[in-house]
Amino acid sequence: MGWKTLDDVAMAGKTVLVRVDINVPMESGRVTDSTRIDKIKPTVEDIIARGGKVVLLAHFDRPKGKVVPEMSLGHVKDALAASLGRKVVFGSDCIGAAAKAAIAAAGQGDVVLLENTRFHGGEEKNDPALAGEMAALGDLFVNDAFSAAHRAHASTEGLARLLPKAAGRLMEAELKALEAALGAPVRPVVAVVGGAKVSTKLDLLGNLVGRVDHLVIGGGMANTFLVAQGREVGTSLAERDMADTARAILAKAAAAGCTIHLPLDVVVARAFKAGAASETVDVGACPADAMILDAGPLTVAALTKVFETCKTLIWNGPLGAFEIEPFNPATNAAARVAADLTRAGKLVSVAGGGDTVAALNQAGAAADFTFISTAGGAFLEWMEGKTLPGVAALNA
Ligand code: ADP
Ligand code: MG
Repeated sequence: MGWKTLDDVAMAGKTVLVRVDINVPMESGRVTDSTRIDKIKPTVEDIIARGGKVVLLAHFDRPKGKVVPEMSLGHVKDALAASLGRKVVFGSDCIGAAAKAAIAAAGQGDVVLLENTRFHGGEEKNDPALAGEMAALGDLFVNDAFSAAHRAHASTEGLARLLPKAAGRLMEAELKALEAALGAPVRPVVAVVGGAKVSTKLDLLGNLVGRVDHLVIGGGMANTFLVAQGREVGTSLAERDMADTARAILAKAAAAGCTIHLPLDVVVARAFKAGAASETVDVGACPADAMILDAGPLTVAALTKVFETCKTLIWNGPLGAFEIEPFNPATNAAARVAADLTRAGKLVSVAGGGDTVAALNQAGAAADFTFISTAGGAFLEWMEGKTLPGVAALNA
């Protein structure tokens, strides 16, 4: 970890440009979930406590380089002020005279919020001229937007190359958790990968088999592996044309000493709908007119044993169609096992992915996990072993 934290840089009397992700969901002009706003509070408070002036840079939605009034960060200003409990001064542009005026108008302890960086076409092109105009506004750059770090944009990557820089508290927590899970983990390590399709998680599976001791494959993507092993999966979601790919992943795992765990028993139904009649059968016994929608209790028992032998767990993707009853028991049960082992101090557990976070919340397990990443695409790219430009620029 070559990056600095807020502890490593002096900021008294300095104007600190802080890249945040406050791309919150909104309905008819109101913020419906302020989680992302609430999460930047430690960084904002820390900078203010150290005597710095906070200037927030952020994107909002996808205006594609044009000024789109509905996508103005001005709509987020009140929710931001309420969450932070501070006065927010809004600048109607993220560069130039409007930005400078807002910064000048902000007093000690006020927070400056500048307009949507994506109103400028140069943002997504990582235009050095735009990054330069942003850099001219401040003395120091703090990146607290891990969830935007997989994109090399002017405010995430370009700007970091022009000013002294540090990771914000949220970025720091995310990087430390991910490093502990996959960078330099305490072994043995188990990865759980579930979800719908192998095709969307090929790079992820390919990277993990070379890095973890156990790989649990669940959800719809397990069906593709079962097909590759010559098993009948009936009308299940399965990518039959990916069988060769699945076999290549199994071979790579074997060569790397990674043990693959596939379902031993499965919950099958004739219809993919809530309350559908279901039965649990041996993995080789899926009826031709039925589909696999969850793993069964034997599988959960086997996973429990694996989790108990491991020190680190990293999880992306549910083990079944968890959104629909009665196809959530395996995901719920495995999540609870991981949560209990974590609470007992026996396991470091890190999870991420949109549906995964929803599933762990549904299971009541999220609070006990060591770290839950809400970063979406950035988390997945990191699990794929890719370099995130926003993080690399903090290191440079
Ligand atoms: P994440 O968003 O956490 O990365 P994914 O989007 O890859 O996870 O996968 C979640 C989706 O996979 C859910 O919508 C779930 O219903 C679906 N899924 C899991 N198991 C099955 C299955 N056996 N058949 C069909 N869909 C499944
Ligand atoms: Mg998803």
